[in-house]
Amino acid sequence: MYESWETLKNECTKCTKCDLCKERTNVVFGEGNPKSEVMFIGEGPGEQEDLQGKPFVGRSGKLLDKMLGEIGLSRNKNIYIGNIVKCRPPKNRDPLPEEQELCINWLRNQVLLLKPKIIVAVGRIAAMKIIDPNIKITKQHGTFYLKKKTWMMPTIHPAAILRNPNQKPLVEQDFINLKEKIKEICTNTY
Ligand code: SF4
Repeated sequence: MYESWETLKNECTKCTKCDLCKERTNVVFGEGNPKSEVMFIGEGPGEQEDLQGKPFVGRSGKLLDKMLGEIGLSRNKNIYIGNIVKCRPPKNRDPLPEEQELCINWLRNQVLLLKPKIIVAVGRIAAMKIIDPNIKITKQHGTFYLKKKTWMMPTIHPAAILRNPNQKPLVEQDFINLKEKIKEICTNTY
């Protein structure tokens, strides 16, 4: 456990614990306000994220930013965004269970420093890893679960909305639920 964000980031960006380090351009550590009460967690970097070293900056990231903006959230202001694995899986495949397991301690350390009141798991892989390995995202998205004193909500990945725009209203409703929960339990977000 590292006690400062700076040390944690320095150590994480040198990590070679799994084979994903071999093809990465950048370690995508995470981005946002380190005092946020709300944390978003995706599965891992894609091509643009790997090139820029930032989470959710490709097409789906831009959609996520837009939808966050509609409920008054921004990585530049009041949320933090991270990933289960910090290096891009080749050809955007799902991160393997062993890669997730080797990487998860970086995320755990981020959560310990941030102490978020709410965690939003973005997409099936993140929801399975941090909420419930048996989760059915199509049925359970938008629902809050209390785990170790932190409220957790799975939502559908923005990449899925780009593939199937019919799902956008479902995610918009998830974000309305999120806004309500923030108003209920957070004191510094809005
Ligand atoms: S994915 Fe995680 S565990 Fe693997 S090399 Fe990158 S930072 Fe290390």
